Amino acid sequence: MCSHLWRCIRAGITIPNDLTFMRFTFFCFYISFCFLLVGCTIAGAEPATTDTVRQDVAPVPLVQQHPIDTSALPKGYFINPMRIPVSLSATFGEIRPNHFHGGIDLRVGGKVGEPVYAAAEGYVSRIKVSPWGGGKHVYITHPNGFRTVYMHLDGYAGELLKFVHDYQYSHRVFAFDTDLPADSIRVEQGQLIGYAGNTGSSGGPHLHYEIRFADNDQPVNPFYFGMDYSDPVPPTIVNVKLYPADGATLIDGVSKEWFQTTTRSIKKRHVTATADSVTVSGRFYAGIYAYDRSDAQSRKNGVERIELYVDGALFAIYGVPTYIYEETRAINAQIDYPQYQKNREYYVLTRQLQGIRYPKVTAVRDSGYICFNDNAMHSLEYRVYDYKGNVALRSLKVRSRQPNTIGQQPATAAMAQNRKLNVVFARPFRLDTAGFRLSIKPYSLYADDGLVFRISQRKEGLYGNCYTVYPRNYNYPPNQACTIELPIPHGVKVSRSKLLICTVAGKKKSAVETRVENGKLVAEVKCFGTFAVAADTVPPDLKPSNFKNGSTVTAKDIRLKITDDFSGIGTYDCYLNGRWTLAEYDPKVAALIVDAKQLKKGQNDVKFKIADAVGNLVERQYTLYR
Ligand SMILES: [Zn+2]
Repeated sequence: MCSHLWRCIRAGITIPNDLTFMRFTFFCFYISFCFLLVGCTIAGAEPATTDTVRQDVAPVPLVQQHPIDTSALPKGYFINPMRIPVSLSATFGEIRPNHFHGGIDLRVGGKVGEPVYAAAEGYVSRIKVSPWGGGKHVYITHPNGFRTVYMHLDGYAGELLKFVHDYQYSHRVFAFDTDLPADSIRVEQGQLIGYAGNTGSSGGPHLHYEIRFADNDQPVNPFYFGMDYSDPVPPTIVNVKLYPADGATLIDGVSKEWFQTTTRSIKKRHVTATADSVTVSGRFYAGIYAYDRSDAQSRKNGVERIELYVDGALFAIYGVPTYIYEETRAINAQIDYPQYQKNREYYVLTRQLQGIRYPKVTAVRDSGYICFNDNAMHSLEYRVYDYKGNVALRSLKVRSRQPNTIGQQPATAAMAQNRKLNVVFARPFRLDTAGFRLSIKPYSLYADDGLVFRISQRKEGLYGNCYTVYPRNYNYPPNQACTIELPIPHGVKVSRSKLLICTVAGKKKSAVETRVENGKLVAEVKCFGTFAVAADTVPPDLKPSNFKNGSTVTAKDIRLKITDDFSGIGTYDCYLNGRWTLAEYDPKVAALIVDAKQLKKGQNDVKFKIADAVGNLVERQYTLYR
């Protein structure tokens, strides 16, 4: 429905306003300049195209999020899905790469196989098996309008086990994702559904458990349903940072972000000191890096709530009691993203960006931007809470200085000057130039912004030109995938089907899932940066890990190491004595695993067919005895 809506909007009439038109003219100059840079590469290679920028006017309806009143959620309806005490290795809403954590992670003592039970009565409404993400999933829909989800299972039990086996053999697949009709598999509260494991993108055995609204799959913190656990330890605040809101702001005399450090390096000697005051002039906002442990050996879990007080008054609250999956990537704009890229530290920024439809920062004054127009001493204080109400405090004195505006250019004017292409975050955007097309869906950026775009000459190992595009001011990965289309370069000797769009960062190129449409290469990309065309002509590599051709199998499974140089493993099939047989793929360890119980007594012919994402195929046959 979404893509249909998107097509309708795209088909709508473009009404460029004067400003857009001016920018467009400017852009044409810019593109001409790029043409000069790349010489005849483009002009010779591509038919003449009209450079256009479209920003259609139709607004897009918002995805609906249920408001939640935590006190009204049913308490005690869902039981603990395991018969061991609740011990957490991750909390709800915790910050993860590109997403909020949609559930809680329950520890299982470091080993797979802990039985998992239905948290309440209902029916199995979806089963998903994937080498990635949540691995082996179960979804149960309950009569009270909620749905529970269980992930990273090692395996299934009872009717679910039979369903999965039948599905895999009838469709000849390991990975699948299917909805089940209501009541085809009914479960009672406390009924065994499977076993906790480490499947998919999991860093160790645990159960990932979620409670969602059944109608829109909106996850809600399971703690608000009365799940109990022990946590006597308050959160830990690692550090506080202040950020200039624009180019005119000075923090300790410079227009740069500022750390409240507890250890300062002064002339190569480490002096332990707490910087408890800072001088600021102009608008700024603050960020905090904090985590919570529930006991001494617990890992660094997320906190429940962060409150910012300015001069003793509540200024902003950050918290994630619920969210919608469509906006999970907004996490990138809610944290100090460059700091995260540098060292994986998650500073939560207590300011609101307009493009985040359901802000995680609420009860804010001035959208979380602080500005003191005086020469005085002020106080900032962060209060950080865990789910048991334990609190940690960190305060900071801010000496305000009235901005010295003489000789300073207003920052907004400087920003406007830099803008080549303008994107209004709430509207769809399309750029067409030199055979390259970029389509951005509404609410993919987190604020109105300018795009930087350039074309540069090909690099070694790539075909055609490199196209670079990113938002000028808020350079976060987009909230939703953007569509890019690249022309198929002329004179390429490789078959079209082996060509791929890739992202280029320095010497590293990463393949993106690519399709051919109307004679162009098309991909959905979840990052900005540099894109180009490359080829994958090399089939995957395959090596037996625990057997040799002609040997007798005594282990519980036969394992191969399968790897691919570029586009990634696409399909993996095992034929045992001529019949398709289930082989499970675990990309964490690059392993393809076949249960040895499937081998018959005596001689077995085992054949593997492994293809990469563009269909380069390798076939190997082995004779094994049992
Ligand atoms: Zn999890």
